[in-house]
Amino acid sequence: MIIILQQGLPAAQKANVLEQVNNIGYKVNEVETQAGDYLVAIGKKEFDIRTIGQLPGVADIFMVTDEYQLISRKWRVEPTRIDLGDGVVVGEGQFSIMAGPCSIESEQQIEQVVEHLKANNVKIMRGGVFKPRSSPYAFRGMGLDGLKMFHRICSENGIKIITEVMQVSQIEEMIDYVDVFQVGARNSQNFNLLDALGASQKPVLLKRGISGTIEELLQAAEYIFSNGNENIMLCERGIRSYEKAYRNVLDLNAVPVLKEKTHLPVIVDPSHGIGIRDYVEPMSLAAVMAGADGVIYEAHPRPEEAYSDGQQTVNFHASERLISRMRQAYALRESF
Ligand code: PEP
Ligand code: MN
Repeated sequence: MIIILQQGLPAAQKANVLEQVNNIGYKVNEVETQAGDYLVAIGKKEFDIRTIGQLPGVADIFMVTDEYQLISRKWRVEPTRIDLGDGVVVGEGQFSIMAGPCSIESEQQIEQVVEHLKANNVKIMRGGVFKPRSSPYAFRGMGLDGLKMFHRICSENGIKIITEVMQVSQIEEMIDYVDVFQVGARNSQNFNLLDALGASQKPVLLKRGISGTIEELLQAAEYIFSNGNENIMLCERGIRSYEKAYRNVLDLNAVPVLKEKTHLPVIVDPSHGIGIRDYVEPMSLAAVMAGADGVIYEAHPRPEEAYSDGQQTVNFHASERLISRMRQAYALRESF
């Protein structure tokens, strides 16, 4: 059950609502986000919700019985739109394109990608500086110095940054240089990290775990929201299966299902989803048609020289065609 409290509620009124809800036998969690004050009450007992709904200080009340509550579309039908500033908004009503290398590698590489994005009117650049790698001997990213360079060049050019944060201790040092924190597939259920990103109130793109179910993804998002941050995007990036012909199975089923279950934007990552650069375009177009609010993919000036994930990274020629075709597909979808 979600109880929306009136803004600036006097402490005594809030205490009264808490007491009444406790009396019914529900356990109450207080949630304060950048957008509102809520009580999430967990319990099973049947009661007339009007007894709580009419209490002074209660703005509204909703019965939600799923394992996740605040991110559910059952109480908030309005889609969440995340404002990254300077007119860059992610969420239903626009199609967001986020592109860039798997790893940030050099000043020149950042500049080349920025030029490519600007030429194609793409406003968000991806690039990892802390890289989760399967092998400890692989390139693990340029770290904080790389992020500062990435941020300097992007902010000079009006481009927003999305980059992966791998652990709680990195949040504070990264926060001023990031527009969207990415939570990678391997950290999708790192609940301490999710708690801390909730408290940070910076927009988050949360990837689905390598073997994560839809419900696990939604519950992970609930961690972020319930710790104070409503600005969450979900990302389908492929799940592991028995199939060896490609890196992962991009589960496009997830797109309409997530769109129905949650008000959060749904972004698709075809690069990690299929893992083969020639197939990034068809899977991106399929993602658009499935109803995605955006696509995030890997692009690099010379993919064959990329420090990581080159095999699934497109060059600028392919990227330009992809951007144009995704926009055409989105216009077609909107015309239906
Ligand atoms: C990445 O975006 O480069 C990445 C490591 O993604 P994932 O966590 O989906 O594997
Ligand atoms: Mn990658």
